[in-house]
Amino acid sequence: MFERAALIHYHEIGLKGRNRAAFERRLRDNLQFAVGDLTSERVERISSRLLVRVSDHSMLDEVCIRAAATPGASYAAAAYITSREADDMNAAALLAVREVSGARTFAVESRRSNTDHPVSSAEMNRIIGQHIVDHTNLKVDLSNPDVRCFVEVVQGEAYLFSRKFPGSGGLPVGTAGTVISLLSAGIDSPVASWRLMKRGAVVVGVHFSGRPQTNDLSERLVADIGGALERYGGLARIYSVPFGDLQREISLAVPPDLRVLLYRRLMVRVAERFAALERAKALVTGESLGQVASQTLDNIAAVDEAATLPVLRPLIGTDKLEIIAEARAIGTYELSTQDHTDCCTLFMPRRPATHATVAEVREAEAALDLERMVNDAVSSAEYRDFACPAYRAPKRLPEGVVAAGGR
Ligand code: ATP
Ligand code: MG
Repeated sequence: MFERAALIHYHEIGLKGRNRAAFERRLRDNLQFAVGDLTSERVERISSRLLVRVSDHSMLDEVCIRAAATPGASYAAAAYITSREADDMNAAALLAVREVSGARTFAVESRRSNTDHPVSSAEMNRIIGQHIVDHTNLKVDLSNPDVRCFVEVVQGEAYLFSRKFPGSGGLPVGTAGTVISLLSAGIDSPVASWRLMKRGAVVVGVHFSGRPQTNDLSERLVADIGGALERYGGLARIYSVPFGDLQREISLAVPPDLRVLLYRRLMVRVAERFAALERAKALVTGESLGQVASQTLDNIAAVDEAATLPVLRPLIGTDKLEIIAEARAIGTYELSTQDHTDCCTLFMPRRPATHATVAEVREAEAALDLERMVNDAVSSAEYRDFACPAYRAPKRLPEGVVAAGGR
């Protein structure tokens, strides 16, 4: 019986130089958090890889799945751990190739991370390959094998595996600061949030619901979307802001065609309050150029002007079909396509402006008591926390902000 482990590889892009050790530690801590309840072993750093030993072998696949979902991991492999003796490696190689059912052809791909091992990689491929040929019906096919037996020899031991779980890629959460994501219950903004987590940011969502003019369905959907994103370890918290009364106030005070832009500008200002609270350095939206009337270049400029922080739009050049495919892959699509009324469907004008100017929106905004409106919004927010090991919650919250269900 060999010991088993999830062997986690990461992309080395972005991990160069002085930052590298910090990136590795962050990934290790995030992995530890993700799999901590499945194995009692600590995640180890082993020459450009991370390894977590799994004593209960029935947990191995789940450990690999969770490790692979963790941003920064390029893949997780279900490995056998052996000594560096040929007999052990041969025996483990047989077990590894047999894990892939229905295979007829195979190849061995060995790597030594230390050249202190006397056998070269090419020689190792040959020896292990011969052993597999002698003990199975598998035939060698180096160009397009049904199963690849990977062999990685490091200082004290060797790892053999044939099953790889493709990972999220990207960078470990906690290496890029915090962003505030404007999170609706739609398809796009969860994907935009995911893109930022995958680049190492801690994401704090701000959701605007239509309450009290609507029910709280959008809030519940956003909470569920948060639950789906939680496995990536990058979503820290979602603030939910009842926005219905403020929208009503805006709709009564400004020209109908500009309403949507003024809702958005108010959202941006409220989001920036939360950014200050969370020490976030940017806002994120799910906008995609031209997708809907509010997403023309003119309107984007008209909304941006209300922001002081950079507004990141990771989906700006992404087509809807690509966004949908990504939403499916990250597990938010089914939730995002459930019927709901959020604040954006409230008090919609028949003909929203598609090419508003900053001067126009500013003039219309002069009729509003913005400071009071932002304060009202912030002080009626509720928040919900998610599992994010890199997150440090603010010590003090503004008056009125409470945990969901706590009012
Ligand atoms: P989504 O699928 O993200 O809802 P959408 O195609 O419906 O996007 P819009 O409604 O124009 O597009 O919204 C554009 C962006 O504005 C969203 O991606 C999101 O970042 C932000 N936004 C819209 N509505 C809300 C809301 N109710 N709460 C928080 N952010 C919102
Ligand atoms: Mg929307």
